Amino acid sequence: MIGSSHVPAVQGRVRTRIAPSPTGFLHLGTARTALFSWAFARHYGGSFVLRIEDTDVARSNEESVAQILESMRWLGLDHDEGPIYQMQRLDRYREVTDRMLAEGKAYHCYATPEELEAMREAQRARGEKPLYDGRWRPEPGKTLPPVPEGVAPAIRFRNPADGVVTWDDLVKGPISISNHEIDDLVIVRADGVPTYNFAVVVDDWDMRISHVFRGDEHVNNTPWQINLFHSLGAPLPVFAHVPVILGDDGQKLSKRKGAVSVTAYEEEGFLPEAILNYLARLGWSHGDEELFSREQMVAWFDGSHLAKHPAQWDAAKLAWVNAHYLKALPDDALSLLVKAQLARRGIAAPDDEWLGRACALFKDRCNTGSELAGWLAMFFTPVSPSMEDMRQHVADAVRPALTTLAGKLEGAEWTAPGIAAAVKETLVAHGLKMGQFAPAVRVVVCGRAQTPSLDVVLALFPRRAVRERLMAVGPASL
Ligand code: GLU
Repeated sequence: MIGSSHVPAVQGRVRTRIAPSPTGFLHLGTARTALFSWAFARHYGGSFVLRIEDTDVARSNEESVAQILESMRWLGLDHDEGPIYQMQRLDRYREVTDRMLAEGKAYHCYATPEELEAMREAQRARGEKPLYDGRWRPEPGKTLPPVPEGVAPAIRFRNPADGVVTWDDLVKGPISISNHEIDDLVIVRADGVPTYNFAVVVDDWDMRISHVFRGDEHVNNTPWQINLFHSLGAPLPVFAHVPVILGDDGQKLSKRKGAVSVTAYEEEGFLPEAILNYLARLGWSHGDEELFSREQMVAWFDGSHLAKHPAQWDAAKLAWVNAHYLKALPDDALSLLVKAQLARRGIAAPDDEWLGRACALFKDRCNTGSELAGWLAMFFTPVSPSMEDMRQHVADAVRPALTTLAGKLEGAEWTAPGIAAAVKETLVAHGLKMGQFAPAVRVVVCGRAQTPSLDVVLALFPRRAVRERLMAVGPASL
């Protein structure tokens, strides 16, 4: 199923936002929404706002805020305004609710959580959808219950009792929900903190947001929000609900099934360009293009070709995309990436000339910075070949030749050709073939049976290290 391919009619100034809740790291799904919002704003020369939705006081924390800001910076999704914190806007929300209360658009509800639970329980028992029954909703001629003492009221929005809420979703197309399906939403909790659905509307209104991109788990919230916009006399933004990203198991991509935070990919030595390129293709396309720069995405991202169907996370494809960017990375950037990855393994930065040679030799075999550092680690830390490799490749027949090679390398010129000559002499002296001997040297010196060209790899080691590793192997297996 292909999503709508028509380019939306954009009127006025485009203003988009990303509004993460700081209850954890920046999730890949949120990063994709941020990318779409950002690219759409950039495409139309508009503004991109970063808002921190921290009204869930129990779950929000400063560490998450810092992580989210850092991930946004790392991805290069620069915002024009913000970060704006909802908890710093409580006065503004109060001003709006005071007016709504005064105008009869909202009302106090003194029902306790226990009462509400009992109400819902009874509705479920009758086979009804649990909805607030309007017990505190003022109506002409209706007598409200006596206000109980010592109960702090919540504030509820007086949702229209009839009619239908309709919008033309940029991704999903036209959507209609009857007001009978939704109830009078709590807009301010008893503790005075506004709920998501209310704060988001006041903010999107105040921040003059023209297009709301967000995950489609919020589709069910949108009818309430639209009613609130109307009630406040605020212009309606265009909504674009982006389908979920599914993991390998067909379930929503989740922490239990692997890395879902942007930070985890940064730590693994993925590149921001690759993550953005890959995320862009989860739910959006431009013809058959798979590899494109962020500038190209901005040029193409006009709000068309957004897919309606869920996107499938594909770790192998991400690795492929990352390998592409890794190969194309300028030497100085690659060296920074690898140094950071080596530092994570406790390995001090090698000199740039050496690093340049080493990266050039191994990078084509790697998808990530972490894999590249994994190769380079053998030059700095002792290797521990597997028993299996030792048994298979370091047979008694080749062991004496390892000692011979160590001797020949003592006086060899320490270059690839010099090392190649010493290897050849050793083969001749022991009547061995390259195919028998090279894997043994690799296993003993590099800790693995496959590497790029042996002489070139050995030349990257200090002479002493190679000789020590060769000599550490006894004349016969135990
Ligand atoms: N704080 C909400 C979230 O993280 C934002 C939803 C929205 O964009 O309206 O899901």
